[in-house]
Amino acid sequence: MEAEIIAVGTELLLGDILNTNAQFLSRELAGLGISVHFQTVVGDNPARLESVVRLARSRSDLLVFSGGLGPTEDDLTKETVARAFGDTLRFDGEELEKIRAFFTAWGRTMPENNRKQAMVPEHGRKIPNANGTAPGMIFEDSQSPGKYAVLLPGPPKELRPMFLDSVKPWLAAMSDSALHSVTLRVMGIGESHLESKIGDLLQNANPTAAVYAKTSEVVVRITAKAENDAVAKRMCLEYARNFYDRLGDCVYAQDKDSLEQVVVEALAARGLTVATAESCTGGLLSQRITSVPGASGVFAYGACTYANEIKQKMLGVRAGTLAEYGAVSPETAAEMARGVREVAGADFGVGITGIAGPGGGTPEKPVGLVYVAACDGETTYVQRLAVTGRTREVVRVSATQRALEMVRRLALGLPQPGCAAFAAGQPAHWTDTQTSARDA
Ligand code: ATP
Ligand code: MG
Repeated sequence: MEAEIIAVGTELLLGDILNTNAQFLSRELAGLGISVHFQTVVGDNPARLESVVRLARSRSDLLVFSGGLGPTEDDLTKETVARAFGDTLRFDGEELEKIRAFFTAWGRTMPENNRKQAMVPEHGRKIPNANGTAPGMIFEDSQSPGKYAVLLPGPPKELRPMFLDSVKPWLAAMSDSALHSVTLRVMGIGESHLESKIGDLLQNANPTAAVYAKTSEVVVRITAKAENDAVAKRMCLEYARNFYDRLGDCVYAQDKDSLEQVVVEALAARGLTVATAESCTGGLLSQRITSVPGASGVFAYGACTYANEIKQKMLGVRAGTLAEYGAVSPETAAEMARGVREVAGADFGVGITGIAGPGGGTPEKPVGLVYVAACDGETTYVQRLAVTGRTREVVRVSATQRALEMVRRLALGLPQPGCAAFAAGQPAHWTDTQTSARDA
């Protein structure tokens, strides 16, 4: 099957936005074994769009469009394609109700011109849009059956899931081969650094590999196409080895849903337990651990110690430490970790203290500054995070993510990169050489 991609939008021609949809679609189609022979960009102009559609239809079996499905006058992709493919558009009441509900959910009333988005193909089919108002659509050429036009909305947040959820399975079903994906989760390596380490691995045609950044972690998705699932799976696993070679123990999971799941499994497999003392994360860490079935076997105690007196009373943090270094300090984080480990009689203790914002920051201790400590009875590791320019929620999630990663490393006996290490009884005084800890 020979395909071409047509991105519609004057903004693209003016250089206002980058055509990332074409890159995404090309990569995905290559992964499906579909050859992309042309990429075209055309403005929101009916005559020029029409000539592009006619030319593309004459030379390709599959035309994938991005953009121009919006409610405004200049959004005319579907009208133009319908005409060229010998189809017409009809009003779809059900679609209009979905669009109206989308506006209601945001507390707004639907402008009348959104009715235009409820026009769907008479013969072709519509594709649901889970993230926006404009449905996508598929037209089959009335004169050359087996020749298709797929229309997708311009915003990447809508186009990508629509392609992955609806169009990709449809295309895969048309071909006689199988697709298999393997997901790797990576932590403890910044996105730009990651790019330089594995950038070339993302250029491969089959298997393909794509990277998605999430809060404090990166997901690598490897997809192979082959004659059957077993072969495709083997290709994925072989290709995954390249990532393990280059990223080492920063790859923390393969085909697992979450870091907390990996941590609970690692502790359970070794008969180890953990206890947590949290300040700025307010129990989020214990919530994440206990959301995993089987957590009761590994989780001893989770304390939410917000006030200084409670840090002293429940965890034995020394008044002098709080007075001298403050609640948000490596010294306090370390004493919290040591204290909660003792109180609970657990193998490992974790302490988190920081400033989640939006208020409460100072020049020396800005919003987003968090200290995370993890202790195994002999050594206490302390890490300093500086989560800048993010919301309270991101600061909290990042802090728990780092804490879980430290526990995973303790459980597996791995080194703790980016952490300062303090022996039992030694105060966690932060010296200049130790402030080189990784920043988020
Ligand atoms: P809308 O309902 O938002 O009008 P649409 O389907 O008509 O959607 P466009 O109006 O062409 O799509 O584009 C909407 C937005 O989507 C653009 O402002 C841009 O941010 C993004 N976008 C459009 N095309 C692309 C592209 N090829 N690559 C990346 N982003 C794009
Ligand atoms: Mg538009």
